Order: sequence, then C-alpha cells, then structure tokens
Amino acid sequence: MSTDRPMWIANEHVTATTDEWLTSEDPATERVIGRVPAGGRDEVERAVAAATAARDTWRFTAANDRAELLHEAVSKSLQRLDELVELLTREQGKARPEQEEEAEWALTSLRYYAELGRNGSGRVIPSAEPETQLNLVLKQPYGVVGAIVPWNFPLLLLAWKLAPALAAGNTVVIKPSELTSLTTLEWIERCFDHFPPGVVNVVTGRGAEAGEALVAHPDVRVVAMTGSVETGQRIASVAAPMMKHLHLELGGKDAFVVAPDADVATAADALAYAALFNAGQVCTASERIYVPAAMRDGFAEAITAKVEGLRLGPGIEAGTDVGPMAADRFRTKVARHVEEAVARGARVVTGGGRPDRPGYFFEPTVLVDVEDEMVIMQEETFGPAIPIATYDSLDEAIDRVNAHPMGLGACLRSSDPVAVKRFYERVEAGTVWINDPLTDNYAGPFGGMKLTGGGRELGPEGLETFLQTKHVHWDLSEASKDWWYPY
Ligand code: NAP
Repeated sequence: MSTDRPMWIANEHVTATTDEWLTSEDPATERVIGRVPAGGRDEVERAVAAATAARDTWRFTAANDRAELLHEAVSKSLQRLDELVELLTREQGKARPEQEEEAEWALTSLRYYAELGRNGSGRVIPSAEPETQLNLVLKQPYGVVGAIVPWNFPLLLLAWKLAPALAAGNTVVIKPSELTSLTTLEWIERCFDHFPPGVVNVVTGRGAEAGEALVAHPDVRVVAMTGSVETGQRIASVAAPMMKHLHLELGGKDAFVVAPDADVATAADALAYAALFNAGQVCTASERIYVPAAMRDGFAEAITAKVEGLRLGPGIEAGTDVGPMAADRFRTKVARHVEEAVARGARVVTGGGRPDRPGYFFEPTVLVDVEDEMVIMQEETFGPAIPIATYDSLDEAIDRVNAHPMGLGACLRSSDPVAVKRFYERVEAGTVWINDPLTDNYAGPFGGMKLTGGGRELGPEGLETFLQTKHVHWDLSEASKDWWYPY
C-alpha cells in the first residue's frame, strides 16, 4: 500500500506549491511505499516564518514546561512504537532489531535532553567591583535551527538534534533525507503535535533544493547537519557569508585495529558487527581493518566463517541479520570499490556480488591482500565490505589510521593496557572504542575530527551546540568612573 504524506508546518499539513511529489521505496522489494511533496524555497519560507513566529514564545517558555512536552513526545512515541519501527524498516531497510534499537535510542536522547534542559545554564562570575557590579554569563537559544538529517539513522540522528535544540529553547525546521521522509513525518506529526505551532516543522524535498534553501535562509541561525563531507562543504560555503553557527557531523572511514595480543575469534565477532550493522551504512562502520601480518590467515578464516553464517534478507523478516542497502546507487558504489581493489591485487574471500533477487542487496564481502592506496581504503564505502590489510608494528598501524583525512571513530581489540593507552592517546578520532565497537553513551559526546567536522552530539556538549554565549556586565549604580574622559 502506498500513501501520500504532506509536509508538517505550524502543526498543519502542507503540500508543495508545485504539486511535485517524491517517491519513497522499500529497498527490500523496490516497491513504492509512499510519496512526499518536493518542497523548495516557498515551503522553506513558510516553515521558517512559522518557526520565527514561535521563537520568542518558545524561548521564554519555562525550561520545566519544555521538558514535560519532550517527555510527552516520548510517551506518544511508545504508544506507536511498533507502527513506527515497521515503517522505518520498510523505508530504510536495516534489520528490525536494529530499527528497534534506533527508535529506543532516539527516545532515550529525548528523555536525556528533557532533563538536561531543566538545569540552569550560564554562570555568575566575580566582578571587578564586587559590591556594586554583577557579571553574568548567559547561555541563550539562537532562534531558528535548520536540522538536516541523513537516511541511515533517520530517527536517531534527528533526535540528537531536535531534543537538545528544543530543550535549549530553539524552534526547529527539519529537512529529512528524501529516502526516509515518510518515517520522519509519521513521527513528528503524530508525536510532537502537542508542541505549540511553529516549534517543530518538517519540509520535505531534495537536498539541493529544500535543504539548500533552508541553509541559505537568513532567519535560520544554526544549521545542524549530518551527512557526507561533500554536502557539509557545500553547506559551509553557503552559510559562510552569513556567519551562521554550523554543527556538522560528516563522513567517516573508521579503522578497526586488531592488536597482536587479541583473541582472534572474538575480534572477528566484534568486527562483523562493527562492519555490517545496517549493511555497513553507518558513519562509524569499520571500513579499514588492520591485523598483524602474522595473524592474517587465521583472522581472515575467522571473519569469513562469521560472515558466511549471517542471513541476508528483508529487514522486516524475523531472523534477518543484514538487510538491503538503502538505494541502488549505494550498492553500485560498493561494487565499484570491490572491483577496483580486486583489479589492484586484492582477493575476495567471500561475497562480492549482488544476489539474484529483488531489492538492493549486496553480499557481505571480505577482502584480503588490501593496500592503503586502494579506493576501498580511501573513500567512504558505506556498505557491507570488510577490507583487511596487515601491519608489522602497532605504531605503524596508528600512523596508517591517522594518515586518512577523516577522523570520526576508531576501534581497537586488545587487553594489553600499554597498547590500549598508546592507541587512544595517539589516534586522531572523536570516539575510540576499545573492545566494544560502536556502542554510544548518551552522556558521552559523539563527533569527529579533521574532515569529519568538529560537531559534537550527545552529552552536555550536544546541548551547548544550540546555545550562544552572552556576557552581561552590570554596574548596579550609575556613578561616574574616574577612568572616563577627560584623562
Ligand atoms: P548526504 O547525501 O550528504 O545527505 C545528508 C542530508 O543533506 C540529506 O538530508 C540531504 O538531503 C541533505 N542535502 C544534500 N544536499 C544538500 C545541500 N546542497 N544543502 C543542504 N542539504 C543537502 O548524506 P547521506 O547519503 O544522507 O548520509 C550518508 C553520509 O552521512 C555518510 O557520509 C555518513 O558517513 C554520514 N554520516 C555521518 C554521521 C556522523 O555522525 N558523523 C552519522 C551518520 C551519517 P537528500 O537526502 O534529500 O538529498
């Protein structure tokens, strides 16, 4: 069944003035499951106007009341969780347990920021004239936030922006990915409709049209975006003349290093999860694998056995471990990376093909004899490929991890404390996972270094992003100062 779903602006349904619609498909079947309006400049204008009109009321709503509204969104979401997860699975593709985890995590971050937002912000600092002066450091909302969200974790990565932005007192205009707009609309219009009109709005449409119009709008003071480095660079260039506050969470090419002391079997289990979760479509997926040269054959055997035991299938089916890729163009990219590596001397140990069935499936693929110069070790693959390279010393491995221009996360398998400390001190990555890859902690900041952008989500840092700092110097008396003119 296919549904048409209008945009959500000021708590009302809105279609595009052009009456153009974008289709959303189930990547496991290639069937159209719904349509959303192809919004553009007009709809962005309308949504930003609504968010601007709501800005002052929302900003001066008591933090405790804002917290209660966020908790109410959690309660409403829990009542509709099954429907929401089912739609998310049909639209996005990954295995249902992963979708459930995504939805639960999204709600956890709503709860976390509801509570964090209740705490006082800012501070009182010592004054030069303590008896007659007051110096305040205020933390204030920016106003209207543009939240631009990718398709790989459409609820989670939206919640990481929406919850702190609202808790901090900002209003929000959301631009979801074209691929996951149905789920975003379902969540927002059903579970956030008790917020005052204009506080939460969704404009659907193409990134280059609706997304860019949102970035370019002069009344949008913060652009919070998760996506590729290329899109982040484009957004930065559009926003730069207006000096907007940018919060960019961009691509990754995370390394997974197996230390010489690591247990091969559990390292292989951990890697399968780190590389194949969401069919590898995770910004922190392990995409560059480094194992000691002496352990290469044993490790390749262990990871191959693990991967061959996984079940590829529609995310909606019970027992599926790895779902389809979200769109055919992403599968084409993985195939190109594998082919280029093989042409340059790498060897496919398992997988490497597209199964003969409908849906954008790509077999989980293990490659050995991989070199750092290959495209599969340089460009973000964002798919179910596990390229394994070898190293001779841990310091050499760390240097090769750091040689890449992106710096999102890095994983190490080791129980040697000296190796572990050396690794986490030196590696250039926003998150370092020792032995337990890809586990987030909502109180711990998440984000990258270098080309990944410096944005941080989660933790107090994730709230701070949506607050600007103002220093108030207040002399309580109107007395003249002896350092004023004339000298
Ligand atoms: P993308 O193509 O860069 O798109 C991200 C978002 O930006 C989408 O909503 C997209 O809309 C929109 N967009 C595209 N062009 C735009 C423009 N010119 N102006 C404004 N908005 C624009 O990325 P993706 O394919 O959705 O997501 C995968 C990428 O996200 C990977 O690189 C991955 O590493 C990265 N990622 C990073 C993190 C992190 O926390 N660092 C987390 C998850 C994903 P449309 O989809 O409608 O084009």
